[in-house]
Amino acid sequence: MQTMRAMIFEAPTRPLRLVELPVPQAGPGQVLLKVHACGVCHTDLHIVDGELNEPKLPLVLGHQIVGTVVQTGSGAKRFRTGERVGVPWLGATDGTCRYCKQGQENLCNHPTFTGYNVDGGFAEYTVADERFCFPLPIAYTDVEAAPLLCAGLIGYRAYRMAGENVETLGIYGFGAAAHIIAQVAKHEGRKVYAFTRPGDTAAQEFALRQGVDWAGDSTQAPPENLDAALIFAPVGPLVVAALKATNKGSVVVCGGIHMSDIPSFPYNLLWEERVIRSVANLTRRDGEEFLALVPQVPVKTDVTTFPLKQAGEALRCLSNGQLVGAAVIILASD
Ligand SMILES: [Zn+2]
Ligand SMILES: [Zn+2]
Repeated sequence: MQTMRAMIFEAPTRPLRLVELPVPQAGPGQVLLKVHACGVCHTDLHIVDGELNEPKLPLVLGHQIVGTVVQTGSGAKRFRTGERVGVPWLGATDGTCRYCKQGQENLCNHPTFTGYNVDGGFAEYTVADERFCFPLPIAYTDVEAAPLLCAGLIGYRAYRMAGENVETLGIYGFGAAAHIIAQVAKHEGRKVYAFTRPGDTAAQEFALRQGVDWAGDSTQAPPENLDAALIFAPVGPLVVAALKATNKGSVVVCGGIHMSDIPSFPYNLLWEERVIRSVANLTRRDGEEFLALVPQVPVKTDVTTFPLKQAGEALRCLSNGQLVGAAVIILASD
């Protein structure tokens, strides 16, 4: 039996472990991918820390997978052997629940999430439902494309939820998602104000290099009030900080899957039709729209790479805020 190297997660707070596993086989409607690169996401951290508590165990993490098709399962006809595809967090849906039927497959009642309910991309091979894979823009290398698949895609969904009439956009937490979405927002003519952990001048300088109009501490007020705020850091008090900085009728969008508690706040911060909302998962339509837009901006992703055996180290760096941009595990060179 052919085997592969994989990093597995066995229990919360236990370090990831490098093991040999059998190479999976493509089932009906699936493709088997040789993984080239896989992005690292805050969601992976929330799984490892036990904050998302229903993972398959043991589990291969990773849901921003770039790979080439090496085998197609029965009935899988969408991609040919050798073609490069991306695999996102939404691995499959039931296709029959009321959310799927009304165009909200991101809220499916019986979803499958990559690197959570099924094995993901911190391994040399993985299988995926071909209907949920995306062709990737050719201008991007494997490593550059990986962060588009969650940081970019779910960041984009959060950005779209901010609405059309946004002249001033605040972004709280300037990591992988923010650095991509800041470029999109500037491309669409908005003013972008970036907020980082207090004193994180490295992240503030990084934000300015992405073309934002101002960067400062999350405790500071922006130069002018915000028409919308995107919160990418999993820090509940930022919701209140953002509300304080908003104009009437604005939206505060929480882009993460987990966040620390939001402190209580006076009603007048929400008054005048301000809205707080979350964004959950993605639809395939989000992915198609976003991946078509990316080369037009063009979005440039800033990536720090790690070999497979250092996936745990990549998660630690993400947790400590030591990274600028996105972390990507490399399995094979471009
Ligand atoms: Zn993610
Ligand atoms: Zn459904």
